[in-house]
Order: sequence, then C-alpha cells, then structure tokens
Amino acid sequence: MDIICVPSEMRKWSAEHKRSGSTIGFVPTMGDIHEGHKSLVRMAGADSDATVVSIFVNPMQFASGEDFDHYPRKRDEDLAACEGLGVNAVFIPESEAMCPEPFSIHVDEDRLSNVLCGPFRPGHFRGVLTVVAKLFNIVSPDSTYFGQKDAQQAALIKHMISAMNYAIDFHIGPIVREHDGLAISSRNRYLSSKERQRAVCLYDSLILARELYGRGECAANEIQSRMRRLIETDTFPVDIDYIEIVDAVTLEPVGTVRPRTLIALAVRVGKTRLIDNVLVE
Ligand code: AMP
Repeated sequence: MDIICVPSEMRKWSAEHKRSGSTIGFVPTMGDIHEGHKSLVRMAGADSDATVVSIFVNPMQFASGEDFDHYPRKRDEDLAACEGLGVNAVFIPESEAMCPEPFSIHVDEDRLSNVLCGPFRPGHFRGVLTVVAKLFNIVSPDSTYFGQKDAQQAALIKHMISAMNYAIDFHIGPIVREHDGLAISSRNRYLSSKERQRAVCLYDSLILARELYGRGECAANEIQSRMRRLIETDTFPVDIDYIEIVDAVTLEPVGTVRPRTLIALAVRVGKTRLIDNVLVE
C-alpha cells in the first residue's frame, strides 16, 4: 500500500495507474476508520482495479466552535485498517498542502446546502465541496463512494459531480449501525455512557416513522410530531436541531411521505451533535 502525502505525487500515482488501464475507486474520509468507512472501501474494491482512500480532517468544513481540534486523529490505526482492506493507496495530505494560505477559492452551492444541517453549520458544505472538488482533481477517480449516513452531503456531491461535469461514477453505501441501531460515527466516542444510551433515540424515532408509514400514515407533520414526542419522552434532555421530511433528491420538504422520501434528523445529545436518516422505499 502506498502512503502519499503530496498532491503532485498522488496525481502521478493515479496517472500511472490509469495509463496501465486500471480503474480507480475513491473513498474520501476524515480518518478514524470505522465499519461505515470500511463498507465503502469494500464497495470500491469490488468495483475497481485500484482503491484510494483519502484521510484528511478538513478544517474548512468545521464551523467556529465545532470539534476540529478534538476530532480523532489515528494515523497508524487508520493506515493499518486500510492495509487490511487491501487499499492500494492512502492519500493523507497536510493541511497546508490542501488549503495553502491565502486560500480564496471556494465551491459554493446555494440550494441543497441551505436546508437540513446547512443553517446549523454555517460554511460546512462549502468546506466539504471545496475540499472534495480538490480531492477529485488530485485523485482523478473513475468512481467514488459516499455514505447514506451523511445523506445531505451525498446529495450535494452527486449534484456537484453532475453540475461540474466530473467524469466520476457516484455510489452511495447504506448506513452501518451499532448493535442497537445507533449509526456508527467518529463522534459517538464523545458520548458518555448515559449519553450513549440516550443516543439510540434517533434510530428509535426513525423506526417509529417507518412503522407509521408502513401502517398507512403518510402525513409528514404527523410523523414528525410523533418522532419529536418519542425523542422528548425521557427525563434526560436532548436538543433537537431538526426533524425534516424531504424529497431525497431536491431536499425540499414534502407534506406526504412516499417512496424516495428522506426522513432526516439532527439531535444534540450533551455536547455531541448526531445525525441520522432513513430513506423511505
Ligand atoms: P467521514 O470520515 O465522517 O467524513 O466519513 C467518510 C465517509 O464515510 C462519508 O461518505 C460518510 O458518509 C461515510 N460514513 C460515515 N459513517 C458511516 C456509516 N455509519 N455508515 C456508512 N457510511 C458512513
């Protein structure tokens, strides 16, 4: 497995692999590799001749006051995990290589990024899109893999690929969960044991939404208020940022749940902000 820190070397690596006829599958991550990431790497490995994983804690996607400084950085464990998965190259650049100062070019999207998490995380999606666009330019993959866990991010990247004419096949992988349903996330490690127990309310509320829909309830506002009630029925308080029922592609609110509707929520459990969602089939 090649470990590459410099963008020009990553470009060279990709160019050489493409010249020899290899297809490249690419999984961007912020490291702290867990089962969610691994599932995407396995998808990439199954589809492509060579798999590239990037590990970069992107400073541009953290709003001020967020957890950039505390975000887990586990270089050695991450490299070992990638090696174990048969990854061909890990691109692990320094911040200065990705965002050299003064950095004044950004990719802005002004529709999908203004809903759901957008208002709660100013500048977040601009930071994501800018760095992912750079990663695409550096790695030049044939295909890329993102998780449904970050449904809004996935919708934005899919849209950017099409709107900016990237010749990259976009794939989305299902949410990988803990035994009790909590979506796996690097941020779960911030939770105290009491908070960890409480955190399962996100998943429970999504299960409730799916059950209600299965029993014929299609009114979005009724499903939303039942989810809210379930989350708030506990003495341990949590803060709901939003519970939204939207079209999975446009992310616009819908009044009636139907196939391809996304039910998404963000909840603060203690100081930890968790997100989860379910796509109605
Ligand atoms: P991150 O390192 O958090 O930026 O995540 C890198 C990629 O892994 C993103 O495409 C995420 O959506 C995806 N991902 C994170 N958690 C999960 C999960 N529990 N299941 C599936 N994909 C995930």
